[in-house]
Amino acid sequence: EFRYGEHSEVAVPTPNGVITFGQNHPLVVVAGPCSVENEEMIVETAHVVKAAGAQFLRGGAYKPRTSPYAFQGHGESALDLLAKAKEATGLGIITEVMDAADLDKIVEVADVVQIGARNMQNFSLLKKVGAIGKAVLLKRGLSATIEDWLMSAEYILAAGNPNVILCERGIRTFDKQYTRNTLDISAIPVLRSLTHLPIMIDPSHATGKSEFVQPMVMASIAAGADSLMIEVHPNPAKALSDGPQSLTLEGFEELMQEMAPLGKFF
Ligand code: PEP
Ligand code: MN
Repeated sequence: EFRYGEHSEVAVPTPNGVITFGQNHPLVVVAGPCSVENEEMIVETAHVVKAAGAQFLRGGAYKPRTSPYAFQGHGESALDLLAKAKEATGLGIITEVMDAADLDKIVEVADVVQIGARNMQNFSLLKKVGAIGKAVLLKRGLSATIEDWLMSAEYILAAGNPNVILCERGIRTFDKQYTRNTLDISAIPVLRSLTHLPIMIDPSHATGKSEFVQPMVMASIAAGADSLMIEVHPNPAKALSDGPQSLTLEGFEELMQEMAPLGKFF
């Protein structure tokens, strides 16, 4: 049951301390590449995003690609690289689970387990992450209504895991020419009125273009987002996935500087 006016917190232990997602807490920034490609790039990215102020490193080991011929992620070996980046920086780790069979391995390194947009209504997977002792980041499905999304969150909560964070990552509309998806900024106040769960915005997958990330970040903060997820890559032009929407390391540093005066920071 969602109770109007109540706000839950999702407190996540990381090597650098407990990071809390929620309305009465500083903005939590999650940054990193779409895919974990190799040790050098993930460790370098981790150091830079940490120095710039991010609390979590993101990076995919198992990738939900539209084409079966596209890079599918390095799998288990990428989890080991995330563990190295965590060890080197103390950042919390967020990575996606696509198959419940990988969950045990993933929770060994992940501090927050991501359910991707394409699995938002994979109810058996939702029940399984409802039974783990780690927080879950639930991305909005490509064409999911707010109600569909909240019901999916409810699957996780009902299975016994209260630590759910909702992530708006853009929805399908009719225009694919200029943006990859349409960021539903109104989801922020709407969710606020309907649910106590923390709200994250992912402007990278929403816009699909790095040059549009900064204005959507500003809009998200203004509308009251609790957290942001930003794709960052040391060399976006060479990225194995989602290069066009990835900020460079320098671009991310600049973005963090620009965000700082907007409040809800430390
Ligand atoms: C991702 O975070 O890299 C990803 C695949 O996101 P989404 O599920 O929102 O498309
Ligand atoms: Mn991606």
